[in-house]
Amino acid sequence: MTSRVYFADMRSRSADQTISNKLRSLFDVSEMHKIISEGDVVALKVHLGTGENHRHLRPEHVRAVVEKVQEAGGKPFVTETTGIGLASIRGTAVGCIKTATLHGFTQETLGAPIVIADGLKGLSGVKVKINGIRMREVEIAQAIAESDAMISIAHVKGHPRTGLAATLKNIGIGCLTKVGKAPLYMAKKPKIDQRLCNNCGVCIRFCPVGAIRQSRGRTELIQRRCIVGCGCWDVCPQKAITRWNDLHHPRNSELIIRNVDAAAAVVKHIGRDKIAYLNLAYEITPHCDCADYGDVPMVPDIGVFASRDPVAVDKAASDAVIKAPGIAGSAADEVGVMRPGDDKFTGLSEYSPFAPFRNVDQTREWRIQFEVAEKLRLGTTEYELVKIE
Ligand code: SF4
Ligand code: SF4
Repeated sequence: MTSRVYFADMRSRSADQTISNKLRSLFDVSEMHKIISEGDVVALKVHLGTGENHRHLRPEHVRAVVEKVQEAGGKPFVTETTGIGLASIRGTAVGCIKTATLHGFTQETLGAPIVIADGLKGLSGVKVKINGIRMREVEIAQAIAESDAMISIAHVKGHPRTGLAATLKNIGIGCLTKVGKAPLYMAKKPKIDQRLCNNCGVCIRFCPVGAIRQSRGRTELIQRRCIVGCGCWDVCPQKAITRWNDLHHPRNSELIIRNVDAAAAVVKHIGRDKIAYLNLAYEITPHCDCADYGDVPMVPDIGVFASRDPVAVDKAASDAVIKAPGIAGSAADEVGVMRPGDDKFTGLSEYSPFAPFRNVDQTREWRIQFEVAEKLRLGTTEYELVKIE
């Protein structure tokens, strides 16, 4: 079975050919209106970017989709979830909205409200059972779980651990609560190193679930109560709590597989016929939008992909990135994947900022997300690319 992926390139020779107009055309030609019934509350899942990283989606492009959803009778809202660690830039809904404003995403620019889907501190979600490769239960962010339909608007780029970050990541880990994200990234729970701890009590006040207490003159972390994702390691002045990097699964494949399990849970919960996918392949940076910096893009801007198949849309976008020439002075140049056909995502494992995330055995396995997604019947890597002007 082959899935159809519609594609519009980045060329813009007249006002008819703006990216916003191409998005409107892609919405029509891919029949995205069919996922929306009159009155449906429709989540438009985006990434709002982080800190001063300027390589993120453009608000006006999201607005074009907002207007098409409204035309189709839906009630759209633009949504994102909080990141791991309450003390991180996007760790709370407050931080997410501040970031959104900094990056130009507001009710006024979007034409729809922004809802941080997992609540003020990222602890609000719905547990969904899943017969995944690794996961049996996934916690989906509340507002996404309650949506009648969803359009994923993903920014195509690299990632230190999953290689490619596009649709499967946007509808996987991107749709989970802070607590839901934790088992995807992390293999264990933090501990307190008693040799470093001075019992200052900062972590006790910080922990939202009372998993840290003082007892007999020691500060103890009660692992069975710990929900992991809120990140007390960031606030300990003594660096006595296990650092985030030391909690990760030792192999990146674990995150990749679990992310696809999560994506399957989201699709199952919302309904396959109620979700559509857009991949915006511009500003294709080596690092994902969770980084608070944006390096030079690896390849020139490519265009916009639309599909009803989350696997096909990612396969098409990643094939296009690989086929593209690298940009001089970018990470592609740094790691020697400049020719059309060089695998830019595999090459990224040599990119210097990603050194802490390499597998111990140096294997490079970003493509397994497609194998896992096909196994879970999320979609197919066999696609027909339909180019529109
Ligand atoms: S914040 Fe660090 S030093 Fe202070 S009590 Fe907690 S673990 Fe100990
Ligand atoms: S102890 Fe666990 S639940 Fe409490 S802040 Fe630390 S990571 Fe979060």
